[in-house]
Amino acid sequence: MILKPQNVVVPDAMHERSQALATDASALDIAISQEHPPAGVSLSAQADFPSRSVTLVLPPRRAPRRRAVRARNALASKKPLKVMKFGGTSVGDACCIEKTLEIVRGSLGDYRVLVVVSAMAGVTDLLLEAAMCAAAGDSETVARIFKSLKARHRSTANALIGSAAKRGRLNRQLKECFVEGESLCQELLLTRSLTAAARDLISSLGERLSAPLVATALTEVGVKSEAVDARECLVTDSHHGAANPSFELTRGRCERRLRPLLQKEIVPVVTGFLGATAEGALTTLGRGGSDYSASILGVVLDAQEVIIWTDVNGFLTSDPRLVAEASTIPQISYQHAAALAYFGAKVLHPKTLQPVIQRGIPVWIRNTFAPEQAGTKITLHGPHSDVSVKALAAMSDIQMIAVTVSGMEESSSVTHRAFAAVAAARSDILMTAQTRSTCELGFVVRSPLAERTMEALQMEFGSDADRRYIREIGVKNGVALVTVVGQHLRDLPGIAEQAFAVLCREKLQVIASSQGASDCNLSFVVAAEDMERTLGVLHKEFQLDGVSNFR
Ligand code: ADP
Ligand code: ASP
Ligand code: MG
Repeated sequence: MILKPQNVVVPDAMHERSQALATDASALDIAISQEHPPAGVSLSAQADFPSRSVTLVLPPRRAPRRRAVRARNALASKKPLKVMKFGGTSVGDACCIEKTLEIVRGSLGDYRVLVVVSAMAGVTDLLLEAAMCAAAGDSETVARIFKSLKARHRSTANALIGSAAKRGRLNRQLKECFVEGESLCQELLLTRSLTAAARDLISSLGERLSAPLVATALTEVGVKSEAVDARECLVTDSHHGAANPSFELTRGRCERRLRPLLQKEIVPVVTGFLGATAEGALTTLGRGGSDYSASILGVVLDAQEVIIWTDVNGFLTSDPRLVAEASTIPQISYQHAAALAYFGAKVLHPKTLQPVIQRGIPVWIRNTFAPEQAGTKITLHGPHSDVSVKALAAMSDIQMIAVTVSGMEESSSVTHRAFAAVAAARSDILMTAQTRSTCELGFVVRSPLAERTMEALQMEFGSDADRRYIREIGVKNGVALVTVVGQHLRDLPGIAEQAFAVLCREKLQVIASSQGASDCNLSFVVAAEDMERTLGVLHKEFQLDGVSNFR
C-alpha cells in the first residue's frame, strides 16, 4: 500500500491521540474516515475551537474504501431477488419461526431476499373477534383476547431473542401495537360501530406484530434485517377490506424505502396483508392477502421469483384436509392455479397471480417444514402435458340464490334485469345456472355476499307488476361448490360426461353445473354434506392421486 503524508487540522484535544495514531495507518483509516469521523476530528480548519495542524501518514485518500463499498453494492445489486412470503403457520410459534429463519439465512449467499410475513396463525381471527366483541359491548372478551395475544407474542420473543437489549427494543415495539389495538377497541366499546376502516386497523395488527418479531429474530441469527410497515411502501385505493394496489406509486415508494436496504444486503421484513392509501389511511387487501402483498412487491422490485412458504408440499391436486390422497403438482400454469385459487384452494390468495402474469415471474408454493421438497412451480405455460384434469377445488361457504319466474315469455327480460341488478350490487358471482323448463335462474355467491345479492334482486323485482310473474326469490343454503380444473374441458369430448357418470353411479346428486361455460373449469353445486365424497370420487376417477411430472 502506498502511504502519503498529509496535513490535517484537528482540535487541540485530539492532537496527542492523532500523533499516536499517525504511526498506525489502519487505525488512522478508521480515525479520520470521512464517513464516520470520530467526534472532534476535522479534515479542514475550523475557527470555533482551538486547533492545531498535524502531519499524518495516511493511506491513499478514501477512494479504495469507497470503491470497495461500491463494488460490494454493485455485486449485491446483481444478485437476483427472491421475495419470500411466510404464512401464519410458518411464523406460528418460536419453533416454526426458527425454520423460517433457516430458510432465509440459507438463501442469502446467492440471492437478495425480501421477506413478507403474515400474522402468527390464528391472530387475525382473534383480532377481528376482539373488534366485533368491542362493537357489541363485550369488554371482557376483548380483554381476554388481548391478554392471550400479549402472552403469545412475548413468550415467542423471549424464546427467540437472547440479547436483552434487542428483546427490550422488540418488546417496546410490540407494546406500541397492543396499546394501539386496545385503545381502538376502547373507542369501539364507546361508539358501538365497527367501520370498514377500523376493521382494517385492528385486523392489520397481527402483521405489525409479527414483522418486528421475525426481523429481530433474523438479526439474532446473524442476518442483517429491518422490519418495514407496508404502509410505507404499498399504496392502495381506499377500498377497505379488499384494497387494490397502485403499482406506479408502490414502485416509487419501494425504490425509495426497500431498494436501499436490499442493496446493503439488509433483509426487509415487510408486513403482508396491509397497505395504505396515498394519503396514509391503512387498508387491507382481503383475508389471506399476504400472498398478494408478496406478488405485488415482487413485481415492482423485479424479483426473479416469488416463493409462498406454507404448511403443505405445494399446490396439491385437492385440499389435503378433504382428500387424503391429494398429491403435489410439480408445475402448473398461472391460468389453472388462478382458477383453483378462485374456486377455493386456500393455499393461494385468488389475486396473487394477477400482477406476475405480465412479467412471467414464477411463483413457487413450498413447505416451510419440508424445505427439501421441491414444491410447485407456477409459470405462464405450465408443463407440456396432454393430461386434461389437473386438480379439484371446493368451497362450502357459499349460497345459491334462485329467481323463479312463472311465465316462459318473461324469462329473458328477467335474466337481463337480474344480471344488471347483481352487477350493480358488485356481487361477485361464482357461477350462474339457468333452466328453461322451470324458468329458474340461480346465482352462486360466497356467503358474505348473499345478503347483498338477495337485496339487489328483491329491489329489482319488488314492484306490483313484477310480482305477478316472479314466483319466488329464494336462497338455497347447505350447498357446496366443487370445481374440476384442467385444459380443454369443453372441447375434449367426454370429460363432463365422465364426471356426471361417476357422480350418478355413486348416487351423488348434482344440483346445478356450469358445464360448457369454460374450457378450464367445470363446477358442480352439490349438497354440503356430499362435498367431501364428491371430491374423493372425482379425484379417483381422474386419477389425480399418482404423483406425476407430466400433469
Ligand atoms: P398460510 O397460513 O401459509 O397462508 P393457508 O392456510 O392460507 O396457509 O393455506 C394453506 C392451506 O391451504 C393448506 O394447509 C391446505 O389445507 C389448504 N389447501 C386448500 N386447497 C389446497 C391445495 N389445492 N393445495 C394445497 N393446499 C390447499
Ligand atoms: N393474516 C391475514 C389473514 O389471516 C393475512 C394472511 O394471512 O395472508 O387473513
Ligand atoms: Mg394463506
